[in-house]
Amino acid sequence: MDDYGLVLNAGSSSLKFCVFQRPANNHWRLEARGQIDGIGTSPRLVVKGEHGEKMADQDVPVGDGRGAVNALAAWLKSHYGGSRVVGVGHRVVHGGAKFTGPVILDKGVFAELQALIPLAPLHQPYNLAAIEAATERLPDCPQVCCFDTSFHRGAPAVSELVPLPADIRKGGVQRYGFHGISYEYIASVLPELAPEIANGRVIIAHLGSGASMCALKNGKSIDHTLGFTALDGLCMGTRPGSLDPGVVLHLFQGLKMTPKEVETILYKKSGLIGISGISNDMRDLLGKEDPNATLAIDYFIYQAAKQIGALTASLGGVDAIVFTAGIGENSPEIRRRICEASKWLGCSMDEKANAAKGPRISTPDSKVSLWVIPTNEELMIARHTANLLGLK
Ligand code: AMP
Repeated sequence: MDDYGLVLNAGSSSLKFCVFQRPANNHWRLEARGQIDGIGTSPRLVVKGEHGEKMADQDVPVGDGRGAVNALAAWLKSHYGGSRVVGVGHRVVHGGAKFTGPVILDKGVFAELQALIPLAPLHQPYNLAAIEAATERLPDCPQVCCFDTSFHRGAPAVSELVPLPADIRKGGVQRYGFHGISYEYIASVLPELAPEIANGRVIIAHLGSGASMCALKNGKSIDHTLGFTALDGLCMGTRPGSLDPGVVLHLFQGLKMTPKEVETILYKKSGLIGISGISNDMRDLLGKEDPNATLAIDYFIYQAAKQIGALTASLGGVDAIVFTAGIGENSPEIRRRICEASKWLGCSMDEKANAAKGPRISTPDSKVSLWVIPTNEELMIARHTANLLGLK
């Protein structure tokens, strides 16, 4: 391998990455996929090859995100010695109202992304730290930023509105929506995988540890369940989803919690873990006899079905539902239960196809076609990076 492209997805305690071979005709070939987990506690580098074969599984001395990029650079050098990095694509959670698509990084862009930190304090700083570290390591290598918010820009004004006074809104308080890179990927493969719905009214259910839904009309997002932050909408692993803001007032005023405590409750201790008291991982809850585990799953399904109803109203009807991400791709039971709860829409599931992961999992007479389509956010970022940098 001579030239390669990197995709980086930096979080608070992990650095996920993909190594792609330089694209031919915009077709990137995945060389390796890996992550450094446990940054700040017990960091470990795990890398797998294109077919899942183990390439690395080792402790790495890493104290922060910058150290993780350095450790990754050292591993890349040991593996791909004489090769060249021709571009780095970054996942950036927030592009604000301005970035309606991916951009090539420069000092001006970086400053604008720094100004958005208050809107995503738990994600944006880590994304930017990785960008800084990568820029230092590879000063001559162009970098591209892809935003989780961009795909939703252009949606109707009402779907972006937070109905607070104008002086508050003008500081950037609006519904941005997230998981946009995942939705864009699914929208990009529909014409090939499911041409009959590609130009229709589609609800994509991205059900992972973070979960949301997107209402897609003619391949464009017209509504979504995550809002100003990644807290709204569906029940998530550790986040509550839809919540009466009066509850938050109660945490401050009634229970006298500090802002940090409230933040921890909302981002780390609610949702599946909050309800069950057992786990934030759906796999741990499914099949458990514990009534709190059952309640957590029931609530997850209830919210998912409710949001499908809401997005169906936004779309003026629904032609298809697509399941994706960790739970959406891997749990036939959760898909079956969500579709069962959406029977009133005319959803009819083919159990065999559901067990086999589809891709089409509805019966021929279902009024709404049902699908399982694996997402690939890294490939979407790689494609954008190639396009913007002219790597054809
Ligand atoms: P993601 O954030 O998309 O990587 O999804 C991660 C989540 O997917 C995990 O927290 C699990 O709850 C869930 N998950 C993965 N595999 C399964 C499975 N076979 N059944 C149920 N949930 C799963």
